[in-house]
Amino acid sequence: MMPAMRRVSRWTIRSMAAAAMALACVLGGCGGADEPAAAPYATDAVSVTFRQETVGDRAAVRGDADFVTMSTEGRLVVYAADRARAETAIRAALDRVAEIAAALNRYDPSSELSAINAAAGGAPLEVSSTTGRAIEAARHWWQASDGAFNPLVGPLVVLWKEAARAGVEPSDEAVEAARALLDMSALDCEPLADGRYRVRLPQAGMQLDLGGLAKGWAAEEAVAAARRTEDPHSVLVMLGGDGTVWSEPGWPRKWTVAVQDPRDAGSRTVLTKIELANGSVVTSGDYYRYLEVNGRRLSHIIDPGTGRPTTGRLAGATVIHPDGGGADALATACMVLGPDEALALLARTAGADGLMLSLSGEALVRHETAGFAACEIGP
Ligand code: ADP
Ligand code: MG
Repeated sequence: MMPAMRRVSRWTIRSMAAAAMALACVLGGCGGADEPAAAPYATDAVSVTFRQETVGDRAAVRGDADFVTMSTEGRLVVYAADRARAETAIRAALDRVAEIAAALNRYDPSSELSAINAAAGGAPLEVSSTTGRAIEAARHWWQASDGAFNPLVGPLVVLWKEAARAGVEPSDEAVEAARALLDMSALDCEPLADGRYRVRLPQAGMQLDLGGLAKGWAAEEAVAAARRTEDPHSVLVMLGGDGTVWSEPGWPRKWTVAVQDPRDAGSRTVLTKIELANGSVVTSGDYYRYLEVNGRRLSHIIDPGTGRPTTGRLAGATVIHPDGGGADALATACMVLGPDEALALLARTAGADGLMLSLSGEALVRHETAGFAACEIGP
């Protein structure tokens, strides 16, 4: 077990199981003994190993890193021409994840997102391009999902977490009061000339919660950071069930991402696998992170239309999209919408494909797009 794993909270341990929602692996032989990295890394609980591998007819160094970020297990794999390049790419990716995690953590009072939330109804705030771009992405997916994805659910998330803690459902008045703070069209988020952003939440009490998009967005940003170094051949970043993969043109192997059976919490039973050379794949589900009020199990995803946890029309939603934040936001929106509207959303969103899983008694019912089926290689 990685050393810093001992420090994680109960909430973290429960949510780390979410990592099992999607298991990422590369098919093919892996020869050679693992060689640990010499230098420590900046991100939490990192173990890094390198080994020589032959991929198709190409000799490459494969670097693997396991870490913990955003209350989630992270996994990073890089193929590069040599160990130094693999190591540089891994460092860049991990640094980028750490930077994003620090900026967007609404539970850390010193994060930029917390500063924005604390200033709601007051003066605008200048924030980093990281925070500004993440908010812009969230606003885009709010619009594209017709409001099913709404990053202003912060007060509702707090309300329902409190309810779970107290064991009492919130009053209708409290739900309506929090629902009155969902107007994303009123949010100010403008880029400044130097790449920073000016952000303002217009109403006191408004709170941004980027939890529905942050991991997918961060996975893609981490891959982009790795690519900006000295030409890695292929990169995978998984943050829990949220992943981005990329390979240079002509790279002989695709990445395989497994979708876990959502009924099977602990055991990591693989439901199906998809193959992808480039793009993001994100799984959202209610089986790992959920709230409990009076013995009733409630989703951690809120339906902005009702202000209440989604009613479990879907057990899981896996979305493929070229864009990491897009895949993550769409997966959350699909959980809100239920199978039919979710498929309609994916059909009208360029580049999006997905697999929705609903339950009929104990049996899983699959609802998938043709593009998802085309990537599937089976269990
Ligand atoms: P996970 O974090 O388990 O991977 P999601 O990506 O679906 O799952 O994100 C769920 C998180 O998103 C919640 O914990 C909450 O912070 C936030 N959230 C809940 N409901 C919504 C919603 N309708 N739109 C946007 N974000 C939401
Ligand atoms: Mg999401």
